Amino acid sequence: MSINDNIEDKIKAHTRRRTFHTVGNIADTLSRQCYVVGGYVRDIFLDRPSTDIDFVTLGSGIELAEKVAESLGKDASLAVFRTYGTAQVKLYGLELEFVGARKESYRNDSRNPIVEDGTLDDDQKRRDFTINAMAISLNKDSYGQLLDPFDGIGDLDRRIIRTPLDPDITFSDDPLRMMRAIRFATQLDFEIYPETFKAIERNKNRIGIITKERICDELMKIMKSDIPSRGFILLDKCGLLELIFPELVALQGVETINGRGHKDNFLHTMQVLDNVAQSTKNVWLRWSALLHDIGKPITKRYDEKMGWTFYNHNYVGERMIPRIFKKMKFPLNEKMKYIQKLVGLHMRPIALIEEEVTDSAVRRLLFDAGDDIDDLMMLCEADITSKNQEKVKRLLHNFAIVRQKLIELEEKDRIRNFQPPVTGDEIISTFKLEPSPIVGKIKEAIKNAILDGIIPNEHDAAFKYMYETAERLGVKGA
Ligand code: ATP
Ligand code: MG
Repeated sequence: MSINDNIEDKIKAHTRRRTFHTVGNIADTLSRQCYVVGGYVRDIFLDRPSTDIDFVTLGSGIELAEKVAESLGKDASLAVFRTYGTAQVKLYGLELEFVGARKESYRNDSRNPIVEDGTLDDDQKRRDFTINAMAISLNKDSYGQLLDPFDGIGDLDRRIIRTPLDPDITFSDDPLRMMRAIRFATQLDFEIYPETFKAIERNKNRIGIITKERICDELMKIMKSDIPSRGFILLDKCGLLELIFPELVALQGVETINGRGHKDNFLHTMQVLDNVAQSTKNVWLRWSALLHDIGKPITKRYDEKMGWTFYNHNYVGERMIPRIFKKMKFPLNEKMKYIQKLVGLHMRPIALIEEEVTDSAVRRLLFDAGDDIDDLMMLCEADITSKNQEKVKRLLHNFAIVRQKLIELEEKDRIRNFQPPVTGDEIISTFKLEPSPIVGKIKEAIKNAILDGIIPNEHDAAFKYMYETAERLGVKGA
């Protein structure tokens, strides 16, 4: 069905909102034109419900917002941003943004324009894409009328991201729009119009004036999309990825020596990312997928006997992550630690299934992964991307065995959130020791005995084992 088929119905359904009538009536009493504009209008036609609504008026947006907040009474709260000439009214779950129609002109070194009052037409022209430049009138005499000067509806129908004006000017004025184009193409599964895409290629270096935080916001939105690889592949194609995330570009390519090649680790990473994205909305687990092989380019070696190897790429990758996060101004918090942990551990389950799956190895994996074990298993399953279907089948089958073992051992031994059944204090008081390295040694021996299945994860057995260990270590009184 074409978008064009039920435009009227969709507008009618949405403009029934009481809030729109309220805003329109107040604009009428002020003799002002007022429109709902931008993302909200686009999303009406895409059936994507949204709760932030942008209003544009001719004249002061702040004044209109103040009047709207006043008339809504105590249900609404108002925030005014004088420097930007905007105001926000919060009402139940809605965020209503008000701004005066503006005309913008740009200088070369900043994405912050010189702003003047403008007409609705000026305001629509300064918007980033045709699909984001549509407005619906809220004044009584034209209530619900769609103003679509750049055929945004046509582009929604054709599923195209295109700038309203000359794309070279649009992108050079505000290079963040290049990231937004790719983000929208990814979120909506739209194509970027060829002329628009070529302009991104030509203007890519302008991304240098954009703050890392804004780039990070757009990457986050790409990561949260259904098929995040689309965004990274587009970023790569236009040359932006090299500028904003060179570590991913370094994964590209296949080297061949004596007829032996390795897989293209960029394409592999993209596939793992999409596999994970299909199974979970956990964006941090998706980041782990994106970064799981980031240490491969540095660790790549070739020798005649082994062929291509990437020894310890998981640990090297784990250590690279804080540097990457710092450079990109991502938050250095517990989410980063979680990503590091998964990247560091991502070879463990696969190593497990390639040998015999022993209880001891499974317990150790449970101990090291703790509560993140299920996420780790999801990442590792997604990492099986061989072209050889037989191999994939065999590995997935072995994975199922490991999963079953994990469940059985966890039920029996409760290793996941392991707390040693004998504490350091207990060791100290039993043998009247001073706190010393020997205490740690005894504790470690008990832990290993449990993980190796020599003793059960229970206090009495551990207490007995503590005595035996102390004796072996020559502790007095043991
Ligand atoms: P989403 O809220 O899903 O990110 P959106 O289209 O609503 O998408 P916002 O950032 O909320 O995006 O911006 C609202 C509207 O403001 C856009 O639809 C667009 O018309 C305009 N806009 C936002 N950022 C820019 C920009 N950098 N250049 C030009 N217009 C912009
Ligand atoms: Mg929005």
